[in-house]
Amino acid sequence: MPEQEAARRSRNFQEVNLGLEAELARREAMRCLECSSAACVTGCPIGVKVKEFVSLVLAGDFLAAAAKIREDNVLPAVTGRVCPQEDQCEGACVIGKKFEPLAIGHLERFVADYERRTGRVGLPKMAPKTGKRVAIVGSGPAGLSAAGDLIQRGHEVTVFEALHEIGGVLVYGIPEFRLPKDIVREEVENLRRMGVEFKTNMVIGKTVTVDELLGAEGYQAVLVATGAGLPHFMNIPGEHLCGVYSANEFLTRVNLMKAYRFPEHDQPVYDCRDKVVAVFGAGNTAMDSIRTGLRLGAKSAWLIYRRSEAEMPARAEEIKHAKEEGVQMLMLTAPVEFVGNSEGWLTGARCLRMELGEPDASGRRRPIVVRGSEFVVPMDLAIIAIGTGGNPLVQSTTPDLKTRKDNYIEADPVTLKTSKKGVFAAGDIVTGGATVILAMGAGRKAANAMAEFLNTGIW
Ligand SMILES: Cc1cc2nc3c(=O)[nH]c(=O)nc-3n(C[C@H](O)[C@H](O)[C@H](O)COP(=O)(O)OP(=O)(O)OC[C@H]3O[C@@H](n4cnc5c(N)ncnc54)[C@H](O)[C@@H]3O)c2cc1C
Repeated sequence: MPEQEAARRSRNFQEVNLGLEAELARREAMRCLECSSAACVTGCPIGVKVKEFVSLVLAGDFLAAAAKIREDNVLPAVTGRVCPQEDQCEGACVIGKKFEPLAIGHLERFVADYERRTGRVGLPKMAPKTGKRVAIVGSGPAGLSAAGDLIQRGHEVTVFEALHEIGGVLVYGIPEFRLPKDIVREEVENLRRMGVEFKTNMVIGKTVTVDELLGAEGYQAVLVATGAGLPHFMNIPGEHLCGVYSANEFLTRVNLMKAYRFPEHDQPVYDCRDKVVAVFGAGNTAMDSIRTGLRLGAKSAWLIYRRSEAEMPARAEEIKHAKEEGVQMLMLTAPVEFVGNSEGWLTGARCLRMELGEPDASGRRRPIVVRGSEFVVPMDLAIIAIGTGGNPLVQSTTPDLKTRKDNYIEADPVTLKTSKKGVFAAGDIVTGGATVILAMGAGRKAANAMAEFLNTGIW
């Protein structure tokens, strides 16, 4: 995959990966072994027909390849960019046992971009209208994927979104340099052309409740796909200081309030220019935050993590890109206090060194404090990216909806039915923070069960 050169890209918000040319894509497709039992397909949570689309790439029929992907995936230009392919389709690729696996993600992105560039994004076959109405709460990948499936079956679909932009984490979380917002907008536009109605600035639980959707508003079924956007904090002294952000707030301010176009747009976050920026955590959110800090002009950028690099949950490509761009990794380090000046601004974090012990419940080796190892890391901005819980509003205003720890909604693993008749739940709000493709797979599962409920009325 051709890329923008690291020193240059670390100071701009344009996309890092530049995309394959047609000839390179065909050469890559040639590497496919066309296995009879295509493990790549079973490796994909939504069963994209990898073998078939790759053979269409090889034949040079890129539009047919895109149509083949769209049979299972309404957001191919998105998943081609952000899926952790190394754990899914590419992780299962037989070539990967000896060589580099087939670059399935890059090929998916290529055909989706080709289709977009030609402006000939085909619409799938639509079933006749059923007259049944469905409300989807939340417009992230779970909600969008369910919307795509349900509208194709002839149901009337309205997506309610609390924010002013459609896309969930795809627009408010993942930064422009990894997933340009125009791509998400185009995918949303395709759904709109299919007939999905989108209502923004609609906070379900405040503007209107789930019971009202099922009652006066006249919807026969509701899908709750509200995600896991409630940040966890560390609960250590000094976390209230100016300059300490949750990753969600930091990224939302940059992505949705256009801080990445400073000075053309106002800067709605602390000015990072010539400052020391640090992120606590090691997942995709941490990577996105620290690389955003660099692009906003930080003079140095630290990723601080209590385990070692081997346990980092972020996608391999993000870790590689972050290092190339100059992010410094401070491993086996955990903060115990943020310290500040007399005016309440952050100046540093008191940290302890850690060492790794036996594996814990997550299967990763448990970090253990090294006694007497305390030291201070100076910093002007700290971003906390240590995980999130479920957005709680819908649950707190829908009394008969059963929940688990961290506000997650209880749902049947096969049908995604909740404890309340007519209400389904899918995506991060059920599983906890996961991946785009898993959320899409859950949206599809819920859509199947919802269609059955709408057709039969049987709960
Ligand atoms: C910064 C970041 C980077 C990530 N990077 C990757 C990656 O590279 N690859 C990957 O596969 N995964 C990644 N993930 C994870 C992935 O984005 C999520 O697993 C996925 O978006 C979950 O989809 P969802 O539809 O369940 O929820 P979300 O995408 O969170 O969408 C939920 C939507 O519901 C809305 N909502 C919430 N409450 C209400 C309400 N009461 N009324 C109306 N609307 C409401 C929210 O505003 C939001 O738009 C990343 C996550 C983050 C935060």
